[in-house]
Amino acid sequence: MKTLQAVKIDALKKNHQGQILLPDDGVAYDAARKIWNGMVDRHPALIARCVTAADVVCAVNFARNNKLLLAVRGGGHNIAGNAVCDDGLVIDLSRMKKASVDPGKRRVVIEGGATLADLDAATQVHGLATPLGINSTTGVAGLTLGGGFGWLSRKYGMTVDNLESAEVVTAEGKIIRASDTEHPDLFWALRGGGGNFGVVTSFEFRLHPVGPDVLSGLIVYPISEAKSVLQKYREFQAEAPDELSVWIVLRQAPPLPFLPEAVHGREVLVLALLYAGDPKQGASLTEPLRKFGTPLGEHVGVQPYSAWQQAFDPLLAHGARNYWKSHNFRTLDDGLFDAVLQYVKTLPSPQCEIFFGAIGGAATLPAPDATAYAHRDTLYAMNVHGRWEDPADDERCIDWARSFFKASAPFASGSVYVNFLTGDESDRLRAAYGPNYDRLARVKRTYDPTNLFCMNQNIKPA
Ligand SMILES: Cc1cc2nc3c(=O)[nH]c(=O)nc-3n(C[C@H](O)[C@H](O)[C@H](O)COP(=O)(O)OP(=O)(O)OC[C@H]3O[C@@H](n4cnc5c(N)ncnc54)[C@H](O)[C@@H]3O)c2cc1C
Repeated sequence: MKTLQAVKIDALKKNHQGQILLPDDGVAYDAARKIWNGMVDRHPALIARCVTAADVVCAVNFARNNKLLLAVRGGGHNIAGNAVCDDGLVIDLSRMKKASVDPGKRRVVIEGGATLADLDAATQVHGLATPLGINSTTGVAGLTLGGGFGWLSRKYGMTVDNLESAEVVTAEGKIIRASDTEHPDLFWALRGGGGNFGVVTSFEFRLHPVGPDVLSGLIVYPISEAKSVLQKYREFQAEAPDELSVWIVLRQAPPLPFLPEAVHGREVLVLALLYAGDPKQGASLTEPLRKFGTPLGEHVGVQPYSAWQQAFDPLLAHGARNYWKSHNFRTLDDGLFDAVLQYVKTLPSPQCEIFFGAIGGAATLPAPDATAYAHRDTLYAMNVHGRWEDPADDERCIDWARSFFKASAPFASGSVYVNFLTGDESDRLRAAYGPNYDRLARVKRTYDPTNLFCMNQNIKPA
C-alpha cells in the first residue's frame, strides 16, 4: 500500500509536465541538487523541474498545501546557496530558457531559468544587449532580482533599470504580470528585492545596440607597481566616459598565454576593460592604461561582445568551494589600497582574488527609491572571492576573506550588494536593502504574507 506522501507525489506528477526528481532517482537527483558553490550540499525532498509557468503554479501550490520549505533555482549561482534546501521542495527553472527578441522594438522576453549566455546569444544575433554580469553561467533571474551590474552598466544602468515587465507566480499560485502599470508595487520590489515576492517565470528587458564586436581585454601589472597603478586608475576611472568600464582584479596570475611563464602563479594586478562604443575611439581612450607602469603583458583587442562576456568563465567554473565577502565604495582611499596589497600577498589559495567592479555612470542616475535596488551612490563594488578546492582549506580560506573584509571596512560606504551576501550574513540585510527595507517588507506582506518564499536574503512580511 502507498503512503500518503507517495499518493500526493503521484498526484503532483500527473499535473506537472516537467520532471519530478526524488532522492531515489540517484544520479539525476544528485546532479540536480548541485549548485555553483561546491560548499552547498543540501538534500531536498523533491525537485520539480518545471517547463511551463503552469508547472511552477503546480509546484508552488504543492509546497504551500503540504507546508514544505520551498527553494527556487534560477541559474543556481548564488554564493549563499539559497537555490536549494534540505528536506523541502526545489522549483528548478533550468529547463525554462526560451527567449524571444523583437529587434524592431528592442525588447527581449526570456524565461526565468535562462543564463546570461542564453540572453546574450539571443540578443547579440541582432547586435543588441542589456546590462548583465561578467560570468556567463550566472542566472538572469537571481542577477536581475538583486539589481544586476556588469560591463554595460555605466552606459545603460543596472539590469533592473532595463526591466520592462515580469511574469510572476505568486505565493497564492496565481500568474500575474508586474510592470509600471500592472502591480506597480510588486514591479518596484522585484527590481532589487530578490526572490522574496514570487517565482518570476519570464522577464522583459529593453535592449541597446552593442557590438557585436567590442574593444575589450586585460592589461596585467606586477604587484610591485600595484599601489601606484591603483592611484592612477582611481583618477582615470573618475574621468572616464560612461562607455568605458575598467575593473580591477588582484590575484595570482593564471597561465594566460600572453603572460611570460615566469609570471604564472605570481601576484598581479589586472585591469579588465570594455568600451561600449566605437572600438577605434575606445582604443585611443584606453591608451593611458598602458602607461600606469610597466605592464607584464596585455590582451586587448576587438572581439565579439559575447566572447568577452565569457572571458572569466574558466576562472569561475562550477563546483569549487567558495566564500565571499563584499563592500560597496563611494571612493577608493589609499588606506584601502594598503589593506588590499597586504592581503593579496597572503592569498590562501591560487584561486582567491579581490575584485573591484566599477559601476557609477548611468547606474547612479535613478533616485535610491526609484527601484528596490537602493545603492545609487555606489561607484565600486568590491568582492573578496575566497575560492579553493579542498575542504581541508575551508577554515584558512574563510578566515582570510573575513579578515580582509574587516581590514577594508573602514573605507567602505556601509552598504552591500545583496547578490554578493553569503549565507551567514543575515545581520547585513538592512545594509543590503538600505532605506527601501521597510517598503519592501510592506510589499512582502501584500504578496507573500506567510513568507512562503523564504530561501533568499529574506525580508520578513511587515
Ligand atoms: C562567479 C559569479 C560572478 C558574478 N558576477 C556578477 C556580476 O558581474 N554582476 C552581478 O550583478 N552579479 C554577479 N554575481 C552575483 C549573481 O548576480 C548572484 O549570484 C545571483 O543571485 C545569481 O542568480 P542565479 O539565478 O544564478 O542564482 P540562484 O542561486 O538560482 O538564485 C539566487 C536567488 O534568487 C532566487 N531566484 C532565482 N531564480 C528566481 C526566479 N526565477 N524567481 C524568483 N526567485 C528566483 C533564488 O531563490 C535565490 O534566493 C556573480 C555571481 C557569481 C557566482
